[in-house]
Amino acid sequence: MIAFGEYCLAFLKTVLSFGCYTLKKSNKQSSMRILLVEDDKPLSDALSHSLRAANHAVDCVFRGKDALSAVLDEQTDLIVLDLGLPDMDGLDVLKSIRQKSKSMPVIILTARDKITDKILGLDAGADDYLPKPFEMDELLARLRVIERRQGTASTSLVSVGRVSLNTQTLELSVGEALVALPRRELMLLKALMENAGRIQSKQKLESRLYEWGEEVASNTIEVHIHHLRKKLPDKFIKTIRGVGYSIPQVES
Ligand code: CA
Repeated sequence: MIAFGEYCLAFLKTVLSFGCYTLKKSNKQSSMRILLVEDDKPLSDALSHSLRAANHAVDCVFRGKDALSAVLDEQTDLIVLDLGLPDMDGLDVLKSIRQKSKSMPVIILTARDKITDKILGLDAGADDYLPKPFEMDELLARLRVIERRQGTASTSLVSVGRVSLNTQTLELSVGEALVALPRRELMLLKALMENAGRIQSKQKLESRLYEWGEEVASNTIEVHIHHLRKKLPDKFIKTIRGVGYSIPQVES
């Protein structure tokens, strides 16, 4: 067991050292939407503070069952998971998450530091395992590894006509207006916009959703395209019957 005082000390240290980190790396954008599952409130506060300072969006939950309902929210990019939770064991939370999503990145952050615990966690489907106490810089570095693997680390703004998508922050704007989209729709739109002028087959678009760990039913793409069209300019997404979809390249 790790004493609470040690947490505070470790976090004071990491928050302080983080100040230097942000100064050095402030030009490096990064942004994931992280679900933080940690029942220790002061630790959760310190962690979310540091993660937000590193440009991540953070949703905090304190119980396993809240984590499971939050995973249904399509916006989560990564989960930081404590194992000692008040209502259920974090390993069971992880196993349930894996039933919903095979590819959702999960980093376990726990006081259980034996090698056997680490093996259990990794075998249950964790992508990484960091025993407490830990250095915030190390956690941030491990998050960057996952980001690179997901291919989300390169910042860019893709614009087609009046529609602009920041592939980093996943902010979509149509003209002057910011438009909120569920993640699946964003991923589809991103795939189409990055390939403006080229036809994307339904199978190709489906495979993009699979990469994000989504269940893909036979009409999934049609349904999402239908919803997307309501939020985008008229005729922005073209259907090429029997072939796929495309966004025409706009000459600027
Ligand atoms: Ca705990």
